[in-house]
Amino acid sequence: MKPSHIIKTLNERIAAFRADTEDRGETFYQGASRINLAAFPPKEHWDDWIALEPIKGTGKRREKHYMLVPTTCFNCQSSCGLLAYVDRETMEVRKFEGNPEHAASRGRNCAKGPATLNQITDPDRILYPMQRVGERGEGRWKRISWDEALDQLATRIRAAIVEDRKEEVMYHVGREGEDGFTESIFQAWGMDSINTHTNICSAAGRSGHQYWMGYDRPSNDFANAEVILLTSAHLESGHYFNPHAQRIIEAKQRGARIIVVDVRMSNSTTHADHWVSPYPGSEAAIFLSIARHLIETQTYNRDFVARWWNWREFMAAQYPDDADTFEAFEARLAETYAGYTFEYAAAEARIDVRQLRMVAETVAGAGTKLCTQNWRSAAAGNLGGWQVPRTLFLLNALMGAVATEGGLAPNAWNKFVPKNPMDTEHPDWWNDLIFPGEFPLSVNEMSFLLPHFLKQGRGKLDTYFTRVYNPVWTNPGGFDWVEVLSDESKVGLHAALTPTWNETAHFADLVLPMGHASERHDLVSMETHDGRWISFRQPVARAARVRLGETINDTRETNPGEVWEENEFWFDLTWRIDPDGALGIRQHVASKTDPDRPMTQDEYYAWIFDNSVPGLPEAAQAEGLSPLAYMRRYGNFQVGLGSAMHYEDEITGEALGEAHTDEHGRVFTTAAVDYGDGPTPEADPEGRLPVGVGVDGTVRRGFPTPSGRLEFYSATLAAWGWPEYALPGYIKSHIHADNLAADQIPLVPTFRLPTQIHTRGANSKWLDELAHNNPVWMNPADGQRLAVADGDLIRVHADLGYFVGQAWITHGIRPGVIACSHHMGRWQFTPGGNREQRTMETDIARAGDDWTLTPVADHSPMAPQDGKDAARVWWTAVGVHQNLTFGVHPDPISGQHCWHQGVRVTKAESGDQPGQVHVDRSKSTDVFNEWMGRTRPAATVSPDGNRRPRWMLRPMKPRADAYKLPEGSA
Ligand code: SF4
Repeated sequence: MKPSHIIKTLNERIAAFRADTEDRGETFYQGASRINLAAFPPKEHWDDWIALEPIKGTGKRREKHYMLVPTTCFNCQSSCGLLAYVDRETMEVRKFEGNPEHAASRGRNCAKGPATLNQITDPDRILYPMQRVGERGEGRWKRISWDEALDQLATRIRAAIVEDRKEEVMYHVGREGEDGFTESIFQAWGMDSINTHTNICSAAGRSGHQYWMGYDRPSNDFANAEVILLTSAHLESGHYFNPHAQRIIEAKQRGARIIVVDVRMSNSTTHADHWVSPYPGSEAAIFLSIARHLIETQTYNRDFVARWWNWREFMAAQYPDDADTFEAFEARLAETYAGYTFEYAAAEARIDVRQLRMVAETVAGAGTKLCTQNWRSAAAGNLGGWQVPRTLFLLNALMGAVATEGGLAPNAWNKFVPKNPMDTEHPDWWNDLIFPGEFPLSVNEMSFLLPHFLKQGRGKLDTYFTRVYNPVWTNPGGFDWVEVLSDESKVGLHAALTPTWNETAHFADLVLPMGHASERHDLVSMETHDGRWISFRQPVARAARVRLGETINDTRETNPGEVWEENEFWFDLTWRIDPDGALGIRQHVASKTDPDRPMTQDEYYAWIFDNSVPGLPEAAQAEGLSPLAYMRRYGNFQVGLGSAMHYEDEITGEALGEAHTDEHGRVFTTAAVDYGDGPTPEADPEGRLPVGVGVDGTVRRGFPTPSGRLEFYSATLAAWGWPEYALPGYIKSHIHADNLAADQIPLVPTFRLPTQIHTRGANSKWLDELAHNNPVWMNPADGQRLAVADGDLIRVHADLGYFVGQAWITHGIRPGVIACSHHMGRWQFTPGGNREQRTMETDIARAGDDWTLTPVADHSPMAPQDGKDAARVWWTAVGVHQNLTFGVHPDPISGQHCWHQGVRVTKAESGDQPGQVHVDRSKSTDVFNEWMGRTRPAATVSPDGNRRPRWMLRPMKPRADAYKLPEGSA
């Protein structure tokens, strides 16, 4: 029987079962999930849910009473719903399951959601504020009070503000897990000081989308797609893993075709109809050959292209003598991509040309139900990787599959960020340490270059926060981070806000314990599917006790030890920075009813839910609840059901105002324009705001690009120094065969394991049991060539040195490429630290610029007294920390770190141990200088005297005058 028939039969059986059960009058779960899983406790019973529990050694069971309290998972960006089972006897959380009221996750989780229990019961978690004793990095600590920690921080930050040294305060975040709160805090302080991890993650993926549509991310309607084209292992470990995976599988069950472009045979490829395993970096060539096929066979959506592409602008810029007709453009379009034949792309990708043709024909049959996705993957791996999502989106733009059912929409149309009561404004100055002049087109902060900038003397940090961020381990060149974090002249005070110990916290002055998913408040929304929702993260023990009638004023009252939550921490710190309100700061966090104290969390969220979430007050009222009580009870609210083609919205009447149309049809107005959640496009020289674009004689909303249309041609790239990349194209990667020596091969170091969390996985024992090693994937042909057998130790030599890994010989990777997951190789200095989990105890030796990390621990199981489950730890491997050997590779346009490496592989030498790393740090500066040499700084290319194009997205976008390049820099 064909697999599709098996699936059909299974679906028929499920349908028959459902019909049969409904006939018997049984009811199914009718919450937001709508997936009829009878296993969900009905919400009417969430105050007292009774489950049977075995009584040890008796063979009998007893009733356990639980209060079910929703919260939001914090273990990846998907923000799925969790339902905490709070034991009504002890008020302890016994387990986490899915929240059926959550519109995106619909009651389901991946392994990482329930593993939140490991994190909150981790015997080695940080329970109290700690201050270093002795030298930074020495590993000696003393417990201090929160007051002592807050006063130190407030004194320093206040001084930096008063002395106009705001640039010396920086907040560096890995997993933000919320929308807008922390930005508002730093805006309240007048700071342009938020640094993120995005340029080691999704910046190139964002960049490619932004040039097309002004929005930097797609929102996929996988559930309704006919053809799903995924770059890399998105199905199993993508950015919105669980919400995306369940919808992709639903589409597959309906008969949708799935194409996976992935160098490895991942779990995603096993669900694919077509698995394309290309030479890494060739993905854009593949997508362009598919585009050429659509153009050549005229299977693209001519009407959509004619109406929504900025083809007239392209023709005017590049072919001003051609006729001003769509047909003339079509001829140029065909000519532009004529060279991307299947043969050319197949040769670049080293794949079978017949497979490429089949894939192209599958895409051609998708119509407007083509759903494509590239989050990090190839975009994050390669020089010019930002052209991968740009060429991928070209396929959607050709098919007209933009904000269609089964297509993809701009993320902002499916994400909802409500206003909060802090009422802050964007900063009025520019932080060059975060957005330096060499990268005028970077979408996000140049965070991974910070140690190099500090070493160059571009600035120093007085107060540096890291928050759920572990750059020593996560970023390339971790020893550069160790050097600057150890140097008090470069970093005056480092406060690590973290639930768990990590490599970076070891080099902090203050380690401040923050809560996990069930121990904190946050509000978050993600574009997981065609619908809009908000999800509430809350401290579940606190919420449970409030349900029982207690009054709780501070989350520390219900968290373990003195673990706090960041919202209350930031409010308290803000108050201490401006205790009398003279700086105009504390007013932003003051209670609306009692301005002499900070807002409580109830006040903050009640304001949002009462005032900023359409439909929530009515839904709450229907259940006899306040909006806050509704969110505390259900955890999620669906704000809207799917986006429409908003670009087609007509603009008329008052909204249009006194309109002025430019030569390419962009319509500007003197009327006020509400851009909602989306980016703010640039005003014209007269200060009129873009309100729409003329299409077929009607003014329509369009896109927030300079032209108002989808930008096939980017006048921005042309004007800002990169005219050769004004169109979607193919840039040969730094690991293209042309750029490697004969004995080098590409290392793909970016893939995720679906059961691991970036920097907090080592504190989840269930997850570590599932995945605890990162062997180097190697094809048997390469094994034979290099005389490496399965399980052999090998040295992998990258930019800065080598790491010792274990070879895994497998047909699951194409020949000529090796790959190693980025999840493993966690290390620590503390003997016996992390008892139930596995991180390697290490010795770090330094001689000048030579650094060697050597595992020293015996990884045998520990005694039971070291932790409840310590003796059950049967695995000994912990993997290798490969990122230490990587230099920084900033893409000159997107700013993304290009992760792939050209490496040499040799057999391990006598005395080598798995996990060992050797680095020559001096090479790090050489690699930094080499890549900086590729940039075209704003001072030399800016066409308007600004630091960067003002229409482009920028977090905490400063006011217009801050964009001006300093006098004399041009
Ligand atoms: S996909 Fe998994 S880790 Fe991510 S939010 Fe959902 S349950 Fe948590």
